[in-house]
Amino acid sequence: MKEKIYTIPLTDAFAEGGECPFCTLEKKLEAEQVTYALGASMMEPDSRIISNKKGYCRRHFEQMSREGKALSLGLVLDTHLNELIQSLEEAVATPKAKGGLFKKSSEVDPLAAVLETNQNSCLICDKLHHTLEKFSEVFWYLYKNEPDFKEKVETCQGFCLPHFKLLLSCADHELSGKTLEEAKAEIIALELSHLKRINDEVNWFTKKFDYRNQNEPWGNSKDAPQRAMEKLSKFL
Ligand SMILES: [Zn+2]
Ligand SMILES: [Zn+2]
Repeated sequence: MKEKIYTIPLTDAFAEGGECPFCTLEKKLEAEQVTYALGASMMEPDSRIISNKKGYCRRHFEQMSREGKALSLGLVLDTHLNELIQSLEEAVATPKAKGGLFKKSSEVDPLAAVLETNQNSCLICDKLHHTLEKFSEVFWYLYKNEPDFKEKVETCQGFCLPHFKLLLSCADHELSGKTLEEAKAEIIALELSHLKRINDEVNWFTKKFDYRNQNEPWGNSKDAPQRAMEKLSKFL
């Protein structure tokens, strides 16, 4: 069953707690992918081909450079640059294709197209996106079929907004009809309750600056702005 390889990491992420179990999971997967990119991937011709073609974003190049594998990183950069230069030269040599009947703006510029593709291309980001989608599907499968997992979800702290969006968009891959609607409504209610919870925590954080509250306990609010930022924004 394909779900098996996803179940343990997903359950572990929920067990760890925090403002978003999917961020916890993504962080772990990201670290694995960075290590893989300069390790096992170097030995696999198929993987090298994709690495040469797609390249990496700045965030992931920087993480790769902190791996302490200078030669591997050099080799990755060397062959990626090689391929990039080749596709740029081909684009320069290709005449602009007329995209429409008469509008100049609809001309397709091959060079701009290659630059655009390269700018938005990162092998690790792509893999993470794909894997997280799989985990989201398994999330709904387990939510419906495993009472233990459902209980973990009900006691979690909700999700960051981008992963909440991803979860909702994947729900209908696994569920349908009334089950789908009920499960989505439960997760939406969970998320809203935790957005209100973090809002209260941030609110108390700001009130602690009032001298009248200086001797009141912080409660959970000391790191509330940090956690609120995690809740609101994208991990990657
Ligand atoms: Zn998240
Ligand atoms: Zn990336």
